[in-house]
This record gives sequence, structure tokens and C-alpha cells, in this order.
Amino acid sequence: MSAYDDLMAYERVTQALSSVAGRTGWDQETMMPDGAAELRAEEMAALEEVLHARRANPATGELLETAMAEDAVAEANLRLIRRSYARTIKIPADLATAIARHISRSQGIWAAARANDDVASFLPELKEVIRLKREEAACLAEGGDVYDALLDDYEPGITGAELGAMFDRMRPRLVALRERVLGADSPAPLDREFDEAGQMALSSKLAEVFGYDMNVGRIDKAVHPFSSGSGTDVRITTRTSPRDPFNCFYSTIHEVGHACYEQGVDRAYQLTPLGAGVSMGVHESQSRIYENQLGRSRAFTGWLYGQMRDQFGDFGVADEDAFYQVVNRVTSGYIRTEADEVHYNLHVMLRFDLERQLITGALEVADLEEAWNARFEADFGVAVDKPSNGVLQDVHWSFGLFGYFPTYTLGNVYAGCLYDSLREAVPGLDGQLGQGDLAEATGWLRENLQQFGGLRPPRDTIRHACGCEPSEGPLLDYLDEKFGTLYGV
Ligand code: ZN
Repeated sequence: MSAYDDLMAYERVTQALSSVAGRTGWDQETMMPDGAAELRAEEMAALEEVLHARRANPATGELLETAMAEDAVAEANLRLIRRSYARTIKIPADLATAIARHISRSQGIWAAARANDDVASFLPELKEVIRLKREEAACLAEGGDVYDALLDDYEPGITGAELGAMFDRMRPRLVALRERVLGADSPAPLDREFDEAGQMALSSKLAEVFGYDMNVGRIDKAVHPFSSGSGTDVRITTRTSPRDPFNCFYSTIHEVGHACYEQGVDRAYQLTPLGAGVSMGVHESQSRIYENQLGRSRAFTGWLYGQMRDQFGDFGVADEDAFYQVVNRVTSGYIRTEADEVHYNLHVMLRFDLERQLITGALEVADLEEAWNARFEADFGVAVDKPSNGVLQDVHWSFGLFGYFPTYTLGNVYAGCLYDSLREAVPGLDGQLGQGDLAEATGWLRENLQQFGGLRPPRDTIRHACGCEPSEGPLLDYLDEKFGTLYGV
């Protein structure tokens, strides 16, 4: 066996164990009895210990010195194994364990603090998370930018400076669009109850029309919608809300976008470093284009209107045009996960700026709430009324996920580029969406992006699919055009 074959055989077992860890996480959110929480924490820690040891195994370092790549796939595999090894060995095992132990605790404290609107009880925990993450970042950065070192976990190859410059270019146009739209008349929201069974039934139908393969997938209910797994076992969760069926339908479509990406990766890559989505930004481009550019389009919502009438009868919306307006209603709310397409990226930019300052030390945890509230009022024109609507709303920081937020907006930017290319490639797109037929659209995404998994670095993946350099222009043009038309501004 060659050094490369040895590496790939070892990697296959590591990937399989990592896949088991992921499924255990899925179980925790969906099926696990409450009383099993402590045992589960120990099971997860044991898996993590084994995985860390395998990823930092000195034998891997030796094999990497002599392994040769004979084709592009082998080259990509070696690049990713080398990267994972180099990152893992920079972090001392006791620091990795301290982080894992602390975040399992701080998540619980965050959840209680959010439920009680009690910022003070969470801040000492957050301070410790940040101390540990800064220590980790310093190990990884080796004198370079500490925020970039953390960002690299989620979006390899991009820097905070590049993202900051892109966000600065986006902000004025988003703010101007927001002001125009909020100055116009807004449609009323839905005003009745939609039964849970009906929501779940239509949810399954949506998953099917967007191409989610239920033979290697399943849908369950959970508090937070998510997608989990790769290749031949990719599961999603969704949620229902009696008065807001769109929450269910668009959470489902969003997670189906993530799941179809994972199901769409070339099966020959399963249990190799190439066998999953390449980065958080590229992942989010898939969930967002499914959810927004396709799912909230005039053409597709026309079809969805008919489906909702079949499922729920007359629900108080007169016709397809009125329905399109209700689906795309713009309101300046507090909560990022409920934000419309116009506001969403402004929520992300706020978090990006604050977390970058927290990691570099420019902002102290003690001043975080004040900084959040001032920035929110400046950007959204409304004062935050309580911490659960402000600084305590997201789980990410309690988890130590610093550098994750900006990938949401990067995903939207990539989705904008992909949508332009998709429209060019599929001239009959609107006609098909109006029939609830997404086969050609999702087929194009699978063919040009999803199948490649980790073969190319993130930005190259988008460039390959679009045939051009990705930029924020297409997203901003799409938003101006869509909401300008919808609101007549
Ligand atoms: Zn997502």
C-alpha cells in the first residue's frame, strides 16, 4: 500500500466515527429522553477525545511527508488532510478539552439566561468562552490575525478584512432599500390558525419537490431547524407555529437546501474529506437559494398559494399576487432568524463587527450589551426592549462559534451570483417554478456545484459554478429589483 492509500484508509475510519458523532448530536435534538443528558455528554466527550487523537496522530504527519497525489481528487484529499492535521496539532489537547467542557456548560447557562432575560448571569460564562477562544486563536494564528484564525474554521481562505470591506460596500444600498420599503404600505400578516398536521404534510411535499431524497433522509420536529449528515444519511428537522405556517415551510425549504447539497455530493467521495459541503458560506448559498431566490419567488409562491388552499381552504388571502406580498412582507423586527431578505444581512453585519472586536480585545464583555443596543437602534431605528430580543437571542457565542455569523451573509452573496447563472442556464425557470417543478433548477445546482463536495476551495467552487468571480453586486441588484417592484419604490 502507498502512503496515500494508508492515509485514506485511516481517514475513512475517522470520517465514519465523526459521522457517528454527528448522528448522536441529531438524536440529542430529536429523540433522546431528557434523563439521558448527562450520559450523552460523556458519550460525546469520549467520541471527541478519540477523534482529536486520530486527527493529531503523528503517524498522519509522517505519511503526509511521503504521500503523492496522482490526480485532482487525490490532490484535494491530501490538501484537506494536511490542513486538518496542521490545525489540530497547533491546539494543545488540554485546551481543546477545556473548550469542549466549558461550552457544554455555557450553552445551558445561555438558554436559562435567555429564558429569564438575565444578561448578568451569562456574561461571566461568555467571558470565559472568549478567553478560551482567544487562546485557541492565538495558537492557530501564530502571530497573525486572531479573528481570521477562527474564521478559517468555517470559511477557509477568506479574511475578516475582506468580509469587512464587502459588508461596507453592501451596507449603504441595504439601508437605502430598507428605508424606501418601510416608507411604503405593508401587507397584513396571515391572521388565522393552521393545523400542525397540515403544516407537516405540506412541508413533506415541499421537501419532495425541492428534490430531497427521503430514501436516504428523514424529517423530524425539533426546537431549532437543522440538517445533519452527509451522503446516504442526511436528516433534517423543522418546526411548526400555529399562526405562522411560513416559519415551517421556509425552515423546511432552507434545511432541504443544506440537505440536498450533502445528498448531492458524488457518492464516490463518501467517508473521504471531499464527501461533505466545502464551507459554511457555500452551504448557506444552497439553503438560501432554495429558500429565497426560488422558494419566495413570484412564480413559486403562485404554486404554493394553490397548495395552501388545497391544504387549509380559504385562509384569507385573495389571490396569488397578494400571497406573494404576504410571503415577502418586510418588517424591522429584533430577531435575525425571523428577518426578511432586506433586513437579514444587517443583522449579520452587527454581529460580525461586535464579535470581531470581542476577539481582538477592542470590546470588553462588560460593554457588550450596551454596544449591541446602540448599534441596533442606529441600524434598525428601534430600541431593543429586552435582552432575549437583543444580545441574548443567538446560541452561537455560547457555543464558542466566533467567525460563523459572517458566513450567513457570504452565503447570501454567493446565492445571488448562482441565481444569475441559473437564470441564464434555465430560460424557462419561471414557468417551471409556477408548476412546482424544481427538477431543472436543483439539477443545475447539483451538476455545477453540489456534486463536487470538497474538491475545490470554497471561492473556487462558486467561481466554477458561476463562471465568474463572485461579488455582492448580483445579490444587491436582485434585492433592489424584487423589493422595489413589490413595494413600488
Ligand atoms: Zn442555513
